[in-house]
Amino acid sequence: MSDIAENISKIKKKGIKVIGCFPLYPPLELLHSFGLVPLVLWDMKNQVRAFKESDRHLQGFTCSAARRLAEFLLSEEGALLDGIFMYNACDTLRNMPEIIQRSLGEREKRLPFFRLHVPMVPSEQTDSKGYLADRIHELITAIEKTFATRFSSERFLACVKLYNAIRKLCLEMEALVAEGKMSYALFSRLIRNGYLMAPEDLLSSLKDAISQAEACSSKNSSAGRRIIVSGIFPPPDAVCTIIEEVGMIVTGNDVATQARSYSYIPQEIDDPVNYYADFYQNHHPCTTLLYSSDKRLQMLMELIEKRKARGMIFIGEKFCEYEYLEMPFVEKLLEQKNIATLQLEIAADDEDNVESLRTRVETFSELIR
Ligand code: SF4
Repeated sequence: MSDIAENISKIKKKGIKVIGCFPLYPPLELLHSFGLVPLVLWDMKNQVRAFKESDRHLQGFTCSAARRLAEFLLSEEGALLDGIFMYNACDTLRNMPEIIQRSLGEREKRLPFFRLHVPMVPSEQTDSKGYLADRIHELITAIEKTFATRFSSERFLACVKLYNAIRKLCLEMEALVAEGKMSYALFSRLIRNGYLMAPEDLLSSLKDAISQAEACSSKNSSAGRRIIVSGIFPPPDAVCTIIEEVGMIVTGNDVATQARSYSYIPQEIDDPVNYYADFYQNHHPCTTLLYSSDKRLQMLMELIEKRKARGMIFIGEKFCEYEYLEMPFVEKLLEQKNIATLQLEIAADDEDNVESLRTRVETFSELIR
């Protein structure tokens, strides 16, 4: 876990407080506008490789995201955080605050916990804007009280612009991957690292990566077999490399830590209530945002058509029922459109044993030739 600890210590040396956030779509702009650095504790597969602590508190059939999260929060590195933020997502995460707080209590540690309840209802069915507005006000009050600070609409707007700039750079990088100018393996690594960096540092790292990729001569993208990838997490780094080695090109993605996180660019306004009403209601569809599920299939079909993909590789996060419940339906629909699918299931300890997947990826690549 050394690089998370290093990042947290580096930020804290500047006198800035660090908030660990989960799951993937927290109100980063709002937290940062208070002078805090929010780190999204999600794709930590390179940092958390053992589950000694989390196995004492979570069942073995919990997804790797939740197990890694618990392991980190209960570690010495986790104790470096100045607070934890979470919003509601799946059943697995529902009782996580109580589990973490109790376990920290047993070690006589305490961390402020901030929560937001995002209404999971479609706006066409129920107007939940007033409810969300109350939750946002409560969150602002809790942060002001805990850190003896005041909300500033100017600072909030500046943070909205900063995070939107990051989202736009991510979209630019995605286009470079589709054109064959940047490898998908590099793209995935840059985005994953970004979750554990201060946003200003992430912005410069993305700008550098884009300049470098643009400086390189473009490969012939039409030579690659065009696919999209989907899942909560991208394929493990070694599988990304295999995908490209066997001649496939990732022309788009529907990965929660990637396109689902950066694709929607919210309006730049200084009012957090209206900003987050727009942010959550118009969010890129994700299986974890229940109200967006109806729009998800349409979005997937449009993506496949727009990027002229011949196939889709689905990276199943073992034990994530949200993803798996939709998959048979998605697969059937894609079959009707003559789009091949390959399902790969990755569990917590599969990250290091991916060579066994090589043959399946190679076969899939031949299939869509
Ligand atoms: S949505 Fe899926 S991957 Fe995310 S925490 Fe829940 S079960 Fe795990």
